[in-house]
Amino acid sequence: MSRQSPTLVRLMQRSAALLLVLLLAACASAPPRNPLATWVPSPNYDIRRPVIIVLHFTDQHSAQESLDTLRTRNSGGPVSAHYLIGNDGHIYQLVADQLRAWHAGGGRWGTITDLNSASIGIELDNDGHTPFAQAQIDSLLQLLGDLTTRLHIPRTQIIGHEDLAPGRKNDPGPLFPWQQLATAGFGLWPQAPLAEPPTDFDPWMALALIGYSLDNRVAAVQSFHDHYRGVIPASEQLDEMDRQILYQLSRQIEATP
Ligand SMILES: [Zn+2]
Repeated sequence: MSRQSPTLVRLMQRSAALLLVLLLAACASAPPRNPLATWVPSPNYDIRRPVIIVLHFTDQHSAQESLDTLRTRNSGGPVSAHYLIGNDGHIYQLVADQLRAWHAGGGRWGTITDLNSASIGIELDNDGHTPFAQAQIDSLLQLLGDLTTRLHIPRTQIIGHEDLAPGRKNDPGPLFPWQQLATAGFGLWPQAPLAEPPTDFDPWMALALIGYSLDNRVAAVQSFHDHYRGVIPASEQLDEMDRQILYQLSRQIEATP
């Protein structure tokens, strides 16, 4: 063992500390690799892209209250969304598009069971009982145009939280202007004129084809009514208008290349 000067020892300690910091930084930015496999990296990749957009109302009283809820470990558990649009139309971004925000929770849409991994979540500052402000919808339309173009999300793939979680969620509710979105080219909406479906038409098959889970049919009908009929008397059944809407929607889906 050789004797070392105190200065040299301090230098070596500093170097070791610096090396540790550099190693930790490298580990933090390195992609996780599977120890089962030999790493033979390819440059041919890019970030994952979401394939669907989920709309919510905040069920709170101000954008500031929601910004707090979406950025803290609140009593109901941590939640977030990629975007929040204020009642005045101001757009806030809380999570980067390519990351997985915690907004959808449990649910299903078609074959997608992990909606948080597959989607962009947009919260709308609204208490659930008040009509949505036009400035807010104008900003939403602008944001939908940006997201569907930039991330290549199909313009039909825009749904409500209650569509993917019937019975558990009720947002964005029957006051949300889905028809106005459809006029601007967003979401799945029946094209007029509606027609009488053939006698062998199965409206439940059509509801499932659109994406609704039939685990709880009464809840699925409620979510479908909120989305496509707006404010109507509560009903647990599909009526003649529903059958015509579902027939038209299923024809549109089947005609999509
Ligand atoms: Zn929601």
